[in-house]
Amino acid sequence: MPDTPFEVEVVRRDFPILATQVREKKLCYLDNAASTQKPRAVIDRLQEFYSRENANIHRGVHHLGELATDAYHDARKTVAKFLNAKSDKQVIFTRGTTESINLVATSWGRANLQKGDQILLTAMEHHANIVPWQLIAEQTGAVIKVIPTNDRAELDLDAYDQLLGEHTRILAICHISNSLGTLNPIKEIIAKAKAMGVTTLVDGAQGAPHLGADVQDLNCDFYAFSGHKIYGPTGIGILYGNQEIMENMPPYQGGGDMIQRVSFEKTTYKGLPERFEAGTPNIAGAAGLAAAIKYLGQFNQADIKAHESALLEYALGQLEDIDGITLYTKAVARTGVVSFNLEGVHAHDIATILDREGVAIRAGNHCTQPLMKTLGVPATARTSFALYNTKEEIDTLAASIIKARQLFK
Ligand code: PLP
Repeated sequence: MPDTPFEVEVVRRDFPILATQVREKKLCYLDNAASTQKPRAVIDRLQEFYSRENANIHRGVHHLGELATDAYHDARKTVAKFLNAKSDKQVIFTRGTTESINLVATSWGRANLQKGDQILLTAMEHHANIVPWQLIAEQTGAVIKVIPTNDRAELDLDAYDQLLGEHTRILAICHISNSLGTLNPIKEIIAKAKAMGVTTLVDGAQGAPHLGADVQDLNCDFYAFSGHKIYGPTGIGILYGNQEIMENMPPYQGGGDMIQRVSFEKTTYKGLPERFEAGTPNIAGAAGLAAAIKYLGQFNQADIKAHESALLEYALGQLEDIDGITLYTKAVARTGVVSFNLEGVHAHDIATILDREGVAIRAGNHCTQPLMKTLGVPATARTSFALYNTKEEIDTLAASIIKARQLFK
């Protein structure tokens, strides 16, 4: 049970990097949608693994091999519990959200898509939830359809109802938009798709860190997220999948650890989860991700959510009156992100000027070029929050934006 009260100043002390200075200014890290910082618990876990447990898994009968295998299996159990998956067999370790989605698009897509089938995406997807589907569409003759957004950058649910049809085979949708912070009503959206027999995938890269994920409650077939966006290491990610569907999917990659028997005549494969984990995995990464999930688990999720929502609303309030600003985060249901532009200043220049003040934000298209086209801009400046951010940091952000505006006036 979560039993640590959520106090942001205490939480900040768990993240060593937050005490560092940037250009002699206090670091104000507001680029969390790109990657979060790591608590001491994760850093220590990586060090402990490499100092005391490191070996390959499943192969050696020696002591270290057993320790590493245990660490890897325990990590899978921790992730399964975090996702409320029925079985840890449903949890596949990947390199990140991108690889998780590529796995589904390639393996599920090859087995299930044919000419004329439809893949339903949304206008706010990250390229990681667009390009893998384009690749499989080219190979199978399937067609991509896109749910548009309204002028608040929320999904147009009437258009969704129209697009969901007898040819729809899969719906792949983000939980939260990484560019704008729009929070999609995915449970309701998934229920409609499931009622039509459509397979569903949730890109939870931004959802899992802010809201957690209960895959049974969501009733999705696949859920993907990245370790590094949820306070864990880079190079590790998760694909959760419906067991029955995954058992009928062909392997994604071939190699060691995923086979039962190999001969030049015929090779047979292991069941879940090994079938989808060819080669030596990121063992330390898995242990580090489990440490991140345990770290988060000590707090009440609702407290983190309330803190992050309060930060977002405070930021919108602080920024909206700045001369020349355009805010793109307008959805009624939103979390984690404020995207904006300043009249007469390119987004990259805003980010460069803010960096001089120690404020780290992201500028660009955020790997959502189709969404930027809908907004009619090539890029935005994006500030994104995590559990360790504070209102004082938002004050610093607002003051730095005003400075940027004055410089270009
Ligand atoms: N999907 C969303 C919504 C994201 O925000 C990101 C990363 O920014 C990704 C997918 C890709 O994640 P990764 O680069 O960790 O694979």
